[in-house]
Amino acid sequence: MNQQHDVGEAMLRAAQCVRNADVLLVAAGAGMGVDAGLPDYYGGIHLAHPRLAEIGLSVYDLSNHTLFERNPMLAWGHWITRQREYSNTLPHVGYHILHAWSKSNKRNVRVVTTNLDRHFLRTGFTVDNVFEMHGSMHDAQCMNRCGAHPWALDIKAMPSVDLNTMLLLGPPPLCMQCDGPARVCTQLAVDGHWDTTQVEVACRRHETFFRELSTERVVAVLEIGCGTVMAKLRKEAARIVADHRTRGGRATHIRINLHQPHIDEHEDNISLPLGALEALCTMNQLITD
Ligand SMILES: [Zn+2]
Repeated sequence: MNQQHDVGEAMLRAAQCVRNADVLLVAAGAGMGVDAGLPDYYGGIHLAHPRLAEIGLSVYDLSNHTLFERNPMLAWGHWITRQREYSNTLPHVGYHILHAWSKSNKRNVRVVTTNLDRHFLRTGFTVDNVFEMHGSMHDAQCMNRCGAHPWALDIKAMPSVDLNTMLLLGPPPLCMQCDGPARVCTQLAVDGHWDTTQVEVACRRHETFFRELSTERVVAVLEIGCGTVMAKLRKEAARIVADHRTRGGRATHIRINLHQPHIDEHEDNISLPLGALEALCTMNQLITD
């Protein structure tokens, strides 16, 4: 009962901070996509894709540069299956709520995410406001590093995949420039060859925006479903908050996390032990009432 009361209080504070913020940074991890029905591959391959687990493959075996060299049919079979899963899943209402907030009161809503589902862009956010830290699995890069710029994959034109073996049933994509082997242009779990040309542009845009942000602007960082296994989003959310505070600005850090809600004690830190969708819907009701 007390805990429910505390969550209610925290929710009221969080809604007020979002309402008053000039700039809202959404840091979205796997917990954001899970509510749309997307599998969390890092949460366990046996849950995300039982067939891959039966074949005896872990996420580290599959999300691996070497697999593209040794067994491109399996590497592409896995990634094309994921791309199709993600394309067939609609962004949940929480994404639309965030997008609506960006349209009201000229509030600037920016996004940093490690998710590969493109759901923010599909909801209407522009590339200028979204920093996809792990790049895009909808783009390919040359494995010969011939100098070709990463290019967009036409998922619909890709061959089918045998879902029993996860092997691609046709020729894998080749480099547009040199006809050499290609791979997805995203940061793989085991990687040393990712072409970061595109992501560096987005990273610079994100960093410059917050570095040059006036301290008179009130910031709220809404960290949603970011786990501790791959903690880079949590660190980035905390860094933006700390930098703005250090420069004399006001920044609130709101952590929405059903399983790992703990946040450091600070008068402007708020923890909401809820799922992404529930938290955003409740907050939206409070803001629009
Ligand atoms: Zn090439």
